Amino acid sequence: MPSAKLLTTTQPFHDFFPPHVVTFISDRSADFKFSETPTPFTRSQSAFLAQQLGFRLPEVLTIRQVHGNKIIIALRSAARRAVSLEDADGILTDRRDLAIAVRTADCLSVFLYDPRNEAIGLFHAGWRGTQQQISARAVALMRKQWDSNPKDLRVAFGPAIRSCCYRVGASFLEHFPKETLKRKEGYFFDLPEANKKQLAGAGVVAANIADCSVCTCCDVTCFSYRRERESAGRMISIMMLKK
Ligand SMILES: [Zn+2]
Repeated sequence: MPSAKLLTTTQPFHDFFPPHVVTFISDRSADFKFSETPTPFTRSQSAFLAQQLGFRLPEVLTIRQVHGNKIIIALRSAARRAVSLEDADGILTDRRDLAIAVRTADCLSVFLYDPRNEAIGLFHAGWRGTQQQISARAVALMRKQWDSNPKDLRVAFGPAIRSCCYRVGASFLEHFPKETLKRKEGYFFDLPEANKKQLAGAGVVAANIADCSVCTCCDVTCFSYRRERESAGRMISIMMLKK
């Protein structure tokens, strides 16, 4: 089985989104494993990001990820208050200079941008979230919130475990009949493809979806739950509309 692409840059979408839409994906040089701290990141994580990005993130919103399909919305118009940590798997915002972030170690991070309404979204999709239609739900929420036209949306896929490595049980055929591939070694799930189909079903144009094509399990510079089990750290995906 040929390896998928490797993560050669932490900003693989800098040509895909306009310059004021900041995106970043860490590799295993820093562990962003969730910890219940008063700030979204520890001092060393913040320092690492500032060094990587070339600037300090003004404000960060993260979530306690639960593998569901809840997506929270941080509105520009909402009163600024101490941000409470919520159980959710995605964030949408139209607030400038608010960085939104999700943690992954095999799950797919999905970046959304609506250029007409200047709104962004970031969520993570594992098989459970995908089964609960998190991609379709994110688009539906953008439509509801900003009257976003799915045809305008630009979507990018971060690193994730790919069908080269994502061996699953036959039960996946029930939920994902088209994206569960049978090979002689067993069944393999194509997680990004399942999300691509969901987005297409929600009206997103295929040409507006960029996939970095990195497999976290093949690429040893990534954290991978499948490869490292409990010892796996977490990679951070970040998106921000810069002022
Ligand atoms: Zn792989």
